[in-house]
Amino acid sequence: MFERQFIDSLDFANNNRELRGEIAMAQMPRLQDKLVVLDAGFEHDHKEDISYILRGFRDRNDKPMLEVKLDGLCQLRCQRCLQGLIYPLKLVSQLLLVKNWDESSVEVEDEIDSILVDSHLDVFSLFEEEILLNLPFAPRHPVGVCRPVKEGYVVEEIDRINKNPFAVLSELKYK
Ligand SMILES: [Zn+2]
Repeated sequence: MFERQFIDSLDFANNNRELRGEIAMAQMPRLQDKLVVLDAGFEHDHKEDISYILRGFRDRNDKPMLEVKLDGLCQLRCQRCLQGLIYPLKLVSQLLLVKNWDESSVEVEDEIDSILVDSHLDVFSLFEEEILLNLPFAPRHPVGVCRPVKEGYVVEEIDRINKNPFAVLSELKYK
């Protein structure tokens, strides 16, 4: 159900292609040491799948671009109590496709991230990279919240995140 996807990135951008679907956290091996896996009961009830939209286009300067949008919940390890911390993953990033790294330096003033053109781009590996770049370095529960993860806490937390994901995100990032 989560087959790996490959695209020809330049062709994808030139033809305004789009790919949508879901990916399981378990499919991104480089993320595993950042994540906490709860018991099977948890995974069954609240699947830690991330929905994605990958879009190719040419920007206003006619440069080939990819846009990655990821949305879902994952569990990081709280650096204070070492228990799971539910983290709302909401990520949008735009990447310029370049043929070599010299070309990318021209774009530095625009602060656009670049990736090399790849005729066999591993889409999930790209998502993994983007997630790694965007996860907080030392995530912590808000003060006073550290406690063993129980099913009740998890449900409560997901509820809170669903009501206001951006408030939860800023709490986590700036603590
Ligand atoms: Zn904690």
